[in-house]
Amino acid sequence: MDLRFEPDVEAFRGRVRSFIQGNLPPTWIGGDWESDHQQPEIADAFARKLIEQRWHVMAWPKQYGGLEASYMQQLVYNEEMSYSRAPSGGAWAGVQLVGPIIMLNGTDEQKAHHLPAIADGSVTWCQGFSEPNAGSDLASLQTRAIRDGDDFVINGQKIWTSSGQYADWCILLARTDPAAPKHRGISYFLVDMKAPGVTVRPLTDLAGGQPFNEMYFEDVKVPAKNLLGELNRGWYMAATTLDFERSGIGTVAACHREWDDTATLLRKADVDPGIRIAAVRLEMAERRIEVEVGRGLAYRVAAIQSAGGVPNHEASASKLFGSELNQRLANTQLKVMGLVGQLRYESLYARMEGRVSHRYMFTIQDTIAAGTSEIQRNVIATRGLGLPRN
Ligand SMILES: Cc1cc2nc3c(=O)[nH]c(=O)nc-3n(C[C@H](O)[C@H](O)[C@H](O)COP(=O)(O)OP(=O)(O)OC[C@H]3O[C@@H](n4cnc5c(N)ncnc54)[C@H](O)[C@@H]3O)c2cc1C
Repeated sequence: MDLRFEPDVEAFRGRVRSFIQGNLPPTWIGGDWESDHQQPEIADAFARKLIEQRWHVMAWPKQYGGLEASYMQQLVYNEEMSYSRAPSGGAWAGVQLVGPIIMLNGTDEQKAHHLPAIADGSVTWCQGFSEPNAGSDLASLQTRAIRDGDDFVINGQKIWTSSGQYADWCILLARTDPAAPKHRGISYFLVDMKAPGVTVRPLTDLAGGQPFNEMYFEDVKVPAKNLLGELNRGWYMAATTLDFERSGIGTVAACHREWDDTATLLRKADVDPGIRIAAVRLEMAERRIEVEVGRGLAYRVAAIQSAGGVPNHEASASKLFGSELNQRLANTQLKVMGLVGQLRYESLYARMEGRVSHRYMFTIQDTIAAGTSEIQRNVIATRGLGLPRN
């Protein structure tokens, strides 16, 4: 059996590769959530070219700024972009989460207002779901929204909000009926981050970056027209948003590139002389097989989307496998490079721009963000395999 994409999709892969080669200068480092902010001139110039072509929203309907390309084309595009560590232009949350959920649940006015602004890159979004006491058990969230005339007034705290310090708008979950069972009293809002009463404080992670934030909402007025979908039905849209978030080939494609670069070092024997190549060779072989497994799981998710479905436990399986692979691979990379692997990018002696020491620390978050591995296994066990909850 020889699985392959349609010829037009493979031809498109070639176009994406040429585009990246032609437009991304060799001085670009990339491969990190914060790369766009570390080399903003390169990231902005590249993002402008992408936006001109509408590639980042290629599968969206034309009326919202997309190209109505197939999901498989989009998959190949995402795979090539992640493999090349290309800049995202800060568009990830808007394109991957917010646009699709507004298309499914938004009013005509919400669609007309928000979708073109995501498609032309003028507005970026963040996801205000998690709270200090509501992560895995997200339905316990306590942020309150109380109706007051034409507005809702929002009070509460969110945490771990990725790129919240740069975002213009936020998808926010808040409790609108505290008397209802917890899943049935939550509503979903589209919140302008510039509204009075919103405070964003970046948080530093163990690798020294600031990929996420805590956010405070104090008497923030949100117009009632910014409620997404029905009042108190926000939980169900949140679950779909998480399914969108867990879909995607980005992590596995990034692992593929990391594996290729690490193998190149090994072949050149450009690693710590103390390293026992025979020991790491076996691990490298295992990681390479796992990259192929991860690709298969991500392709399955894209095939479901392509057929008009919303992947659920399939997205959890892909996310679970990809994030754990990323950690295993970072571990293997550190072993391959020996002591040199601990050097950060500032060092003259660092290999691979010092990314291995950073990856070793940063990939720890992979099995927490977008739902922990335990939560993904629960989804697969109950919704995918029909195992009992209790
Ligand atoms: C880098 C990063 C970026 C993030 N970005 C965002 C963002 O943009 N927006 C946002 O809203 N959130 C974001 N998050 C938050 C993320 O969704 C939560 O951290 C995650 O859901 C876990 O919640 P928690 O941290 O409260 O841990 P907890 O829920 O307190 O979990 C603690 C431990 O208990 C385990 N556990 C909990 N419940 C169960 C169970 N039922 N069965 C088995 N084990 C269980 C967990 O697996 C975990 O190991 C981000 C997190 C990280 C690390």
